[in-house]
Amino acid sequence: MALLVQKFGGSSVGTVSKIRNVARKVIAAREKGNDMVVVLSAMKGETDRLLDLAHEVCEFPDPREVDSMISTGEQVSIALFAMAVRDMGHEAISLLGSQAGIHTDAIYGKARIDRIDPERIRRELGAGKIVAVAGFQGVDDTENITTLGRGGSDTTAVALAAALKADLCEIFTDVEGVYTTDPNVVKEARKIPRISHDEMMEMASLGAKVLEIRSVQFAKNFNVPLHVRSTFVDTEGTLVVEGGEGMEQQLVTGVAYNKNEARITIFKVPDKPGVAAQVFEAISAANIVVDMIIQNTRAGDMTDISFTVGKTDFKQAMEIVKRVAIEIKAERVMGDQSIAKVSIVGAGMQTNPGVASKMFSALAAEDINISMISTSEIKISCVIDEKYTELAVRVLHKTFGLDKEENNKS
Ligand code: ASP
Ligand code: MG
Repeated sequence: MALLVQKFGGSSVGTVSKIRNVARKVIAAREKGNDMVVVLSAMKGETDRLLDLAHEVCEFPDPREVDSMISTGEQVSIALFAMAVRDMGHEAISLLGSQAGIHTDAIYGKARIDRIDPERIRRELGAGKIVAVAGFQGVDDTENITTLGRGGSDTTAVALAAALKADLCEIFTDVEGVYTTDPNVVKEARKIPRISHDEMMEMASLGAKVLEIRSVQFAKNFNVPLHVRSTFVDTEGTLVVEGGEGMEQQLVTGVAYNKNEARITIFKVPDKPGVAAQVFEAISAANIVVDMIIQNTRAGDMTDISFTVGKTDFKQAMEIVKRVAIEIKAERVMGDQSIAKVSIVGAGMQTNPGVASKMFSALAAEDINISMISTSEIKISCVIDEKYTELAVRVLHKTFGLDKEENNKS
């Protein structure tokens, strides 16, 4: 007998009949003798609908009240689910984040889980019940309702699995697992049977949207095995597990892309100590996250600095940089929003030289210019012109043999 945490996303609980379908699936697992904790998202579209309402009432709705409201979507899902389970002759109870002992800090809209008190859940499980917990929400030390940020139900599920020492955390969604790349771009994309937490984290942060990145971080820290799989098709999905020995290492595991960044370049910056610090301190003071940075070496005592920020921060970042550019006596600032980042990810590249050059040659063969490069032990990212994104993804997917099962073993 195992303890399973199963999470179902918004599209899996989007209608009453889908909720009944989820109830049947959970009951089937229960009847195999497992203890079941089920985390649900709000019904598809509900969180957006609630947020729209808040912004209709006023331009800057109070964050505490926003959390209080948008957490209700999940409350509806778990209650409907518990009713459905009971209607099918099994015991079930729904619990809000606060009732389930999920304690967070007080940062509304992106609260972090501090600790979980799983007493109540344990008691209900002990009484033979299927326990449904509202995803995406918790409670702070003064009993205010908080939410964890969009997509946060994944984090709820993984955190509960860690706290309860569950045997497995299954994330049920509307796709069959994690793919070698976006199947909408490359029809030969394949489902990845196993991927390490580290690789998954890179894929998630580079734009693969099946799992919320914080949940993967959590799974890695607490070594929670994850299984990402389809609610609607009964096939094995993708196992996200601890990497390393024993895991077959692909040279490249996946190709990801991200069109949500923009580049800012400062030309002719005086090449002297403290200048970069001045630029990036001003940006971080505005809570803007910078991704890639490159600084050119130039002849003489001037240099150019380029970096990328999220598109949503672009306008504000440009204003800040233009101001700083005057202070540091740089020549001018240029912004470009039509860029994309394409990346290859794979734990196998740590031990294999030549992956980077293979990537660059493949892009060059298609006449795709690379304007920035960044690397880590398990990923290489290139910034290119946005209009070549799909072409680049297709070419890289093919170059590294990801469309064929066997081509790509290291
Ligand atoms: N309902 C929340 C959202 O739409 C949380 C989640 O679905 O994970 O972001
Ligand atoms: Mg989600």
